[in-house]
Amino acid sequence: MVSAYSVQHLLFKINLWFNHTKVTLIGVFMRWIYISPHLDDAVLSVGGLIHDQARDGNRVEIWTLVCGFPPEAELTPFAQLLHFQWGFASAEETVRMRRAEDERAASVVGAQAVHFDIPDCIYRRGPDGEPLYPMDIFVPPHPAEADLPAKMTAILRDRLQPDDVLFCPLGIGGHADHLLVRQAVEGLVLSEDEGLNRPLWYYADVPYVLNHPEALEPSTRLMTAERREVSSGGLAAWVQGIAAYQSQISTLFENPLKMKEAMEDYGGKGILLWRFE
Ligand SMILES: [Zn+2]
Repeated sequence: MVSAYSVQHLLFKINLWFNHTKVTLIGVFMRWIYISPHLDDAVLSVGGLIHDQARDGNRVEIWTLVCGFPPEAELTPFAQLLHFQWGFASAEETVRMRRAEDERAASVVGAQAVHFDIPDCIYRRGPDGEPLYPMDIFVPPHPAEADLPAKMTAILRDRLQPDDVLFCPLGIGGHADHLLVRQAVEGLVLSEDEGLNRPLWYYADVPYVLNHPEALEPSTRLMTAERREVSSGGLAAWVQGIAAYQSQISTLFENPLKMKEAMEDYGGKGILLWRFE
C-alpha cells in the first residue's frame, strides 16, 4: 500500500530533480549579454565583472550597437576633430581600427565581441541630409530619430535567446547614443511578447560617472543596487582591457597612467549594478 507520506516524498524528489535539471540547463544555455553603445563602453564600465564572470565559466558577450560603418558623406568639422584626436584619417579607418581595438579588449576580459551596423551619432544625418549631432553629443536624442530605439530593439530581439541576462548602461553623462540604447533595451524587456521577466541589470557609464558621481543618485532612485566584488585578476584585466582602446585613452583619461589610477580607485570598491524590482 502506498502511503500518503511516500507519495509526498516521491513528489518532493521529483521536484528536486526537476529544479536541479532546470538549473543545470539554464547554466548551459544562459549567456551574459552586455549591451554597449560604443566600442569601449562595456569594458570601461564593467570590464572587471565581465572578466570574473567569464573566468567562472559563463558565456559572456559584448554587443556594441552603435559602431557601424557610415555611408560615404562629407564629415562634420566635429567628426573630423575627433578623428584627428584619435589618430585616424577617415570614418572607415576609425570604425575598422576601433572594432579591432574592441576585439582585443574583449579577449583580454574573456568575452566575445559582437558588432552591429548603426553608425555613431557623429555620422548620422536627418532625412534632409543635415547632421543630427553637429556640435554636441551630450544632448537628448534628436526628434528625427524617434524611431531608432524601436529599430535597435528589433535588431537585438533577432539575436537574443530566451535565457540571456542583459546588462545595459544607465546613460550617466547624457550621451545621445547611450540614451537611445537604454530606450532600445527597455523596449525589449517591457514589450508584451517578450514578457516582463527577462532579467535586466543596469551599469554606470564610465568615465562619465567618474566625472559626475552626483548624477548617480537621481538616475537610480527607484532601483535596487547590488555591489559585486571584483577579483584582483579582474581589476588587472579591466585596466588592461581599457588600455586596448589605444585611440581613446587621451580623450577619456589623458594618459594610460591616469586611467590605471582612476580605474584602480573606482574598481577597487567593486561594481554596483541596479535593477527595477
Ligand atoms: Zn559611449
